[in-house]
Amino acid sequence: MTTQDDLRPTLTTEAGAPVADNQNTETAGVGGPALLQDQHLFEKLAHFNRERIPERVVHARGAGAYGTFTVTADVTPYTRAAFLSEVGKQTETFLRFSTVAGSLGSADAVRDPRGFALKFYTEDGNYDLVGNNTPVFFIKDAVKFPDFIHTQKRDPYTGSQEADNVWDFWGFSPESTHQVTWLFGDRGIPATLRHMNGYGSHTYQWQNEAGEHFWVKYHFKTDQGIRNLTQAEANALAGEDPDSHQRDLRESIERGEFPSWTVQVQIMPAADAAAYRFNPFDLTKVWPHADYPPIEIGRLELNRNPDNVFAEVEQSIFSPAHFVPGIGPSPDKMLQGRLFAYADAHRYRVGINADHLPVNRPHATEAHTNHRDGRLYDGRHGRRKNYEPNSFGGPVQTGRPLWAAVPVAGATGTHEAPAHAEDDDFGQAGTLYRLFSEEEKQRLIANLAGFIAKVSADRDDIVERAIDNFRRADADYGRRLEEAVRGLRKQK
Ligand code: NDP
Repeated sequence: MTTQDDLRPTLTTEAGAPVADNQNTETAGVGGPALLQDQHLFEKLAHFNRERIPERVVHARGAGAYGTFTVTADVTPYTRAAFLSEVGKQTETFLRFSTVAGSLGSADAVRDPRGFALKFYTEDGNYDLVGNNTPVFFIKDAVKFPDFIHTQKRDPYTGSQEADNVWDFWGFSPESTHQVTWLFGDRGIPATLRHMNGYGSHTYQWQNEAGEHFWVKYHFKTDQGIRNLTQAEANALAGEDPDSHQRDLRESIERGEFPSWTVQVQIMPAADAAAYRFNPFDLTKVWPHADYPPIEIGRLELNRNPDNVFAEVEQSIFSPAHFVPGIGPSPDKMLQGRLFAYADAHRYRVGINADHLPVNRPHATEAHTNHRDGRLYDGRHGRRKNYEPNSFGGPVQTGRPLWAAVPVAGATGTHEAPAHAEDDDFGQAGTLYRLFSEEEKQRLIANLAGFIAKVSADRDDIVERAIDNFRRADADYGRRLEEAVRGLRKQK
């Protein structure tokens, strides 16, 4: 009778040769030194040494799942994107959640924005919407991003995150006041990845078949309801189960409880942008719902776990520059920087052929480029010619840009953003503060004060600058925060 053991394959080297002994190294005599001819040992150790690739400099810690996006409303008046062309149409997706500042091995239950990076495998190629669980961001210009992240990461001397650096930077960057208020509010620590919203955050362009264009913002509203952790709950959970979020996501999908989000967009006719009361391309601001009401357009469901976390989550790559016909960028300066930075990071981290990996390549069409070779090229193009134009049946250009041309005027230069009527760094932060319940305000003040109070005792200037931003958002906000911080610093 054939047993299970008879069916097991032989252990081999990478070259396929059978391995005789996987327990004992080959030595010169019993108890002697190891021999260079033990190729199995050397291959095994050398491969192990190379198991890690550079971790993402931000969003290192992540969890992902495949899913389905279903169109629920007719948006053809606004975009000619094929995957949005019909009510009921479904598109395969892959969503990677992440924290921002922590390294690959950090805990999930921390106060940090969550990445919400979504890949739609459309028939026109992959469309990546690389969002967050917050509608705004700390800064509005990509040139400030490395400085900002340096303050979130470890100090070069102490090797720890330092309150001095964080509050020094935020104090000098008043545009961060809105996002900092959001982050230290209740939604700053989601209970699970399922119980939070996602936002495209940036403004994007949609173009319809007639060539007209619109500015859009995406919202993914959780169907599970919003659930958050208090700081105390998160502190306990981060210690008890550092993997709490990725475990919850995987297990809920294994149980068949597929998390879903209702997808909404805010749509602004292109002609509105110049005179809108806020700069519509400023990532530190939302478009108030009263101005541009969110319209429901679809449903996103996550329903399949990846089989291999390294292959499909760690090596997954997303780029906000991955557009499809009918969707394009806006002049948002943070977005413009990200259009470069994401693909650049992946070329360094995963390699120049990262797009060929199963999780990254198009699933509903095929890529036809003249790019060739490079590290780990798999020869997929065979004998096909690798230049264009060619008369050997090679791929041809369409002649139609993916998105609409946008008129610009003025001189080149390092300009500040154009001023719109209500463009200040504080108004929307104050609106958010006033929207919080009294209990949430108390938790917000306690969370902020606890962190600000950690600033070095001889750096009251950093504390004052930081508090002043909140004072300018809302007088009550500033007063309560100042009192709380003063009380905590006195106790020190
Ligand atoms: P609305 O009252 O129309 O919308 C308020 C928004 O705030 C809703 O999207 C709501 O999300 C969200 N919200 C509710 N409670 C909290 C909370 N505790 N923490 C964070 N967000 C919360 O007002 P506006 O559109 O004028 O926006 C007012 C403020 O709300 C803005 O300044 C901004 O800070 C914040 N906000 C606005 C968003 C927008 O796109 N306009 C999106 C998210 C936040 P939900 O429906 O899921 O409860």
